[in-house]
Amino acid sequence: MAAFWAQLKKYMRRYPLLVLVTLVAALAVGFTTALANYNMITVRASVLNVRQGPGLSYNVMAQVSAGQHYTILDQRNDWYQIRLDNNRIGWVASWLVDNTEVSQATNRVGLVTVNEANIRQSADTSAPVVGTAKSGQKVTILYQANGWSQVLVNNSAGWMRNDTLKMTDEVASTVQTNGGGATQVSQTAIKTVTTQQTAYLRSGPSDSSSVVTSLAANTTLTYRETTGQWYQVETKNGQKGYVASWLVSLSANDTAAKTVPTKLSEATIMLDPGHGGSDSGAIANDGTGFEKKYTLETAKIVANSLRAAGAKVILTRTTDTFVDLAPRAAMSNKDGVDAYISIHFDSAPTANQASGFTTYYYNSGKDLRLAKSLSSALGSTLPLTNKGVAYGNFEVLRDNAEPSVLLELGYINNDTDYKEIRSTDYQQQAANAITQGLLKYFQ
Ligand SMILES: [Zn+2]
Repeated sequence: MAAFWAQLKKYMRRYPLLVLVTLVAALAVGFTTALANYNMITVRASVLNVRQGPGLSYNVMAQVSAGQHYTILDQRNDWYQIRLDNNRIGWVASWLVDNTEVSQATNRVGLVTVNEANIRQSADTSAPVVGTAKSGQKVTILYQANGWSQVLVNNSAGWMRNDTLKMTDEVASTVQTNGGGATQVSQTAIKTVTTQQTAYLRSGPSDSSSVVTSLAANTTLTYRETTGQWYQVETKNGQKGYVASWLVSLSANDTAAKTVPTKLSEATIMLDPGHGGSDSGAIANDGTGFEKKYTLETAKIVANSLRAAGAKVILTRTTDTFVDLAPRAAMSNKDGVDAYISIHFDSAPTANQASGFTTYYYNSGKDLRLAKSLSSALGSTLPLTNKGVAYGNFEVLRDNAEPSVLLELGYINNDTDYKEIRSTDYQQQAANAITQGLLKYFQ
């Protein structure tokens, strides 16, 4: 060691700046590696797809097996970006992996040194701001690389520039980044933008922003978000920038998800129990059976069944509360779910006039395949008459950007149907059928 210092002194005299830069670089590398070790996932599913982007619409680039460990590089839409052994980078569904190493890790705490420091969605000054941190606020540091820190604030992950932070000697005893505690910002990564003519990809949302690259007509880009009249997009080779909305067409919803093999376990399903609170929905002939009660009971059983199959499930309501129609569809759009299923029970103008169940869709391009898959599974499972698939102009479907259906699982004002509707057996049969229908749909 003494020889090392003697040697270093000699170099220091001869090349003072070079030595200093080398030492700083060595320290930075050491620190990055140390943090990265804490920030791992363990694969829980027996075989897990690694995708090119954070969602089902992206192609599978590799598969990894249970028990393997990977470093988390980024987090988006409840998907983790990981580095594979061959140094390739891909994305996995966060709910299919354990990140216990992260939750038990003793991550370092950083102190915010500037007023209103931006927290961004990714390590990029042009990435959307997901929050701000005040001077003196403490943040848990998950990972550092290239001048950026991945931080955890209020259970959300984001990125801050290192020059807005000061490392402390404190460690965060618990860090929660599991499943539900994940970020943040909604991004329907499956939307695409296609150039209608030659267009420039620019660094900012204006004609005066510098040109990143030139795009040929008919180039497909991944849509990120809208800023004024500009779309933030990403090219196939990962270049980010803005294109003028008047030069491109934005897909209502790319159906790429349906063209690639997928699994229900990777999917996020939103269940929408109809009515609630002051809105009781339809009423049974006994005058006391409310539709809102049975939609919620059924949705909860369906949720259990789907979770057992590995899917991530979100409910638009979990208690007897009023939720308006527009917010229900908005939740689906915000979360960019892979399928949205609204659960209802029908009512005919007079008692015992009609019987059976119906599967409604609104947009044939987006919803019909899902509707057919569910209708067929329900038809082979439920004891009531299958009235098939039908067009329905319902707001939760009409305002929904994701594949969505509305199920009327029997007539509540039909005594025979009502006997089924209120039974746990029937609700479980519906849950099994919906799970089977979705397994087929996501194949
Ligand atoms: Zn209803």
